Amino acid sequence: MQPILIVGSGLAGYTLLKEIRKRDASTPVTLVTADDGAFYSKPNLSNALTAGKSAAALANASAEKMAADLNATLLTGTRVTAIDTQTRRVRTAGTELGYDKLILALGADPFAHGLTGSSAADVLAVNDLADYTAFRAAIDGKKRVTVLGGGLIGCEFANDLAHAGFAVEVVHLGDWPLERLLPVEAGRRLADSLAAIGVNWHFGRTGKSIERTADGYQVTLDNGDTVAADVVLSAIGLKPRTQLAQAAGIPVNRGIVTDRLLETGAANVYAMGDCAEVDGLNLPYVQPLMVQARALAATLTGTPTPVVYPPMPVMVKTPAHPVAVLPPKLGATGGWSVECSDTGICALHLDDSGRMQGFALTGSETSRRNTLARELAA
Ligand code: FAD
Repeated sequence: MQPILIVGSGLAGYTLLKEIRKRDASTPVTLVTADDGAFYSKPNLSNALTAGKSAAALANASAEKMAADLNATLLTGTRVTAIDTQTRRVRTAGTELGYDKLILALGADPFAHGLTGSSAADVLAVNDLADYTAFRAAIDGKKRVTVLGGGLIGCEFANDLAHAGFAVEVVHLGDWPLERLLPVEAGRRLADSLAAIGVNWHFGRTGKSIERTADGYQVTLDNGDTVAADVVLSAIGLKPRTQLAQAAGIPVNRGIVTDRLLETGAANVYAMGDCAEVDGLNLPYVQPLMVQARALAATLTGTPTPVVYPPMPVMVKTPAHPVAVLPPKLGATGGWSVECSDTGICALHLDDSGRMQGFALTGSETSRRNTLARELAA
């Protein structure tokens, strides 16, 4: 009997494996992963300094322990290089593996930072535990970190680094942080709160080039300004890993295209997590992948179950001024209705008839997120 074959040991792959085992203790499951298979929670990477955790301490369990606990075969350090959907086999560097069902939980790649210059290769990005280990080694004993990108991940790292005493510069193309998710008032409040703990903003700017100096790096911005840094971290966004599926003839768009059962255009092949575009939506957050894992585990164990998302607010881990946001659906009409107090901002996205379609809350107002999410669900 061929196994259920999961590719990827991130939160998507492991959560699916756990959900399968809750329903079925014995069906053979093999999990193949390009990394070392250690189980960790990726969101912890951007607040580990404040939490007082080393990179090593973020790994909760080794691949061996996960394999034993979940009664699965784990192949670590093994990259899948091709899929044959006709014969139901995948190829790796050394071997071929058959599958009954194949689940692609491949994650996403950081966008290329685009900086030129002799030190362009020194710019770091943090998208997994190995990256974070390298990042912690790079900042050890250093003082100045420049972050490229003021989105969710950039803001979280800026907060964590500034709180830990680093001098942080953030270079951000938008006019305020998280400008695609937050109205200007909420974005400015977040920016000001991070500035109050020492973050220096460069809005409306991108990095152009990076050169070594006697004591670190010089980053030149698109307006000619320069920023001195010991370490440069790129956090300008992620793009779903679609190449493997595309090469196998599986339809891809922004992500690997699936229906609500998470089935791709190829029979017996599913996709979930950051790499997947489920019924038109790529949602690269933890809560959607948890919903996907529960639905897919049911489907794979005999009860076809479509993904139905509840309202899922995203928390931005910026303790200097926390943010909770539930963006309106793409193409939503209407606009923001914003109320500001000294301690936070409540912005409701209302349609033309005054119905709430989403929200952005900051500071003390974030405590309203569950009540508002329930209102939206109703
Ligand atoms: P990944 O964790 O990227 O896992 C992909 C796996 O696929 C890896 O094991 C990789 O080795 C493997 N792989 C890829 N290609 C191959 C191949 N060809 N062969 C074999 N294996 C392969 N979300 C929130 O909801 N809240 C937060 O607070 C939050 N904070 C975040 C902070 C940071 C710093 C980052 C980077 C993300 C954050 N996110 C947050 C997003 C969230 O962490 C991700 O949505 C989630 O972890 C993605 O899990 P995944 O399993 O889909 O992908």
